[in-house]
Formats: sequence, structure tokens, C-alpha cells
Amino acid sequence: MDRRIKVPEARDELTELTVTFNHMLDRLQDGINQQQRFVSDASHELRTPVTVILGYSDLLARWGQSDAEVLKEGISSIRSEAENMQQLIEKLLFLARADQKRQVLHKEALELSELLADVMKKMKLVTKRHTVELLRNDPGTVCADPVMMRQMMRIFLENSTKYTPAGGRITVESVRRGGWLCVTFADTGIGIAPKDQKKVFERFYRVDTSRTKAEGVSGTGLGLSIASWIAEQHGIEISLESNLGEGTQIHLRIPLMCG
Ligand code: ADP
Repeated sequence: MDRRIKVPEARDELTELTVTFNHMLDRLQDGINQQQRFVSDASHELRTPVTVILGYSDLLARWGQSDAEVLKEGISSIRSEAENMQQLIEKLLFLARADQKRQVLHKEALELSELLADVMKKMKLVTKRHTVELLRNDPGTVCADPVMMRQMMRIFLENSTKYTPAGGRITVESVRRGGWLCVTFADTGIGIAPKDQKKVFERFYRVDTSRTKAEGVSGTGLGLSIASWIAEQHGIEISLESNLGEGTQIHLRIPLMCG
């Protein structure tokens, strides 16, 4: 079989080929840039917990034996930083598998209302600072990976709890419309400014607010990019509505299984 590239005779063809080739090179370069950015952002994010762990280790080595208070605080801080690192690493591995197309999905016929009810039940058990309500939960079967769907819903709910001050309200409703289930996660939290609304789905993007800083809200900036990858794999459309100081709503449009 002749594998040589056919040299185009007409000039038009040559131009066309060059354009296509350049386009491919651009895409390749974009991919390389994206990977480099990913590695450098990930290293940057991992540096903070490692620095804190090293700092507390020094403190423990010096004062841990003589000061019970230092011992207690040191151990609990090291533990919580290690937990942050573990969560970050899990998310990085998820996205790395997704990028390499190694993230396996096990789709099945899934009654979404059952899954949603279960996720909400567990959420209510752990959320003490907010009111959490499932306002409506229409039945509907979707073709989806149950582990991924649960993960996606937890990301939206956990964000709502993280970015809603104590006493706020988090509501969820799932409404059947034609061939779709329309699920909305709404909170009465700090909201997202219009300029940030698209960017929050980008990897490592976090809105820098004095409030989240002051309240020490921990995050990786990876949750929504994981959620949007999961949504994409299931043909789910995501949209976001938000008003600063009033709250955020995430709308999902999930295709129902036919037949
Ligand atoms: P993180 O781990 O930082 O929460 P995400 O990717 O899940 O990462 O979210 C990206 C950013 O979007 C968050 O850091 C936060 O600034 C903003 N955000 C996400 N959900 C909400 C919400 N419900 N209310 C206000 N801000 C939000």
C-alpha cells in the first residue's frame, strides 16, 4: 500500500493542505499548552498543603512533647491538610483519566428520582447550617452511570453549602418536561458575578472573594470542571444563573431514556 502523501498538483489543493496542516499543528500546540498549564496549576495547588504540613511537623518536633496544645493542634492541622491533598489528588486523577479517555462509564437504565432522593437524604444528614429541601422529584429513567451522576449532584450540593452562609436555603427540584428531566439546584448564597459565570467551569478557577477567604472555605477549583465533564458524557446540558449576594441556580437538562 502506498503510504506517501500525494503531492497536490493544483495550487489550490496545496493551499488547502497547508491550511489543514497548520490547523492540526495549532490544535496540537493548544493541547500541549493545556497539559503544561494543568501540570503547573496542579503543582501550585499541591504546594500549599505540603508547606503547611512541613511547618506543623517542625512545630511538633520542637514543642510537641512539652506542649499538649501544640501537639493537639499540630496533629489535627496535619490531618486536615493531608485530607485536602487527598481530595485534590483524587480530582486530578479523575481529570487525567478523562483526558486520556481512560475514565470508564458504566451506563445503565437509572431511575433518577430514586438516586436524587437518596443523595438528598444523605445531604440533609450532614448539613446542619442550612435548610435543605427537595421540592419536587418527578419520576424518570435515564441512561447513566450511577456513580458519576451521584458525584455530579454532590458537587453542586457541596458548592451550595460551601458558598451559602449559615442559615441559608438549598433547594432542589426535578421536573419532567417532554423527553427531559429538568433538575435545578438553587441556593441563597453569595452568588457569582457575571464576569465569572463562564469561568467557574474552567479547571482551577476560583472566584476570589473576601468572604470565601475570610471564612476559610476550602476548594480546588476542579469540582465544576469534573461536573461538566460528567454532564457532557451523558448528553446533559448545564446552565448557570446567579446574582451576587442573592444566590446561584444550576440547571440540568437530562435526556430521558426512550421506550
Ligand atoms: P471549588 O472546589 O473551588 O468549589 P468548583 O470548580 O466547584 O471549585 O467551583 C469553582 C468556583 O465557582 C468556586 O471556587 C466558587 O468561587 C464558585 N462557585 C461554585 N459554586 C458556587 C455557588 N453555588 N455559589 C457561589 N459560588 C460558587
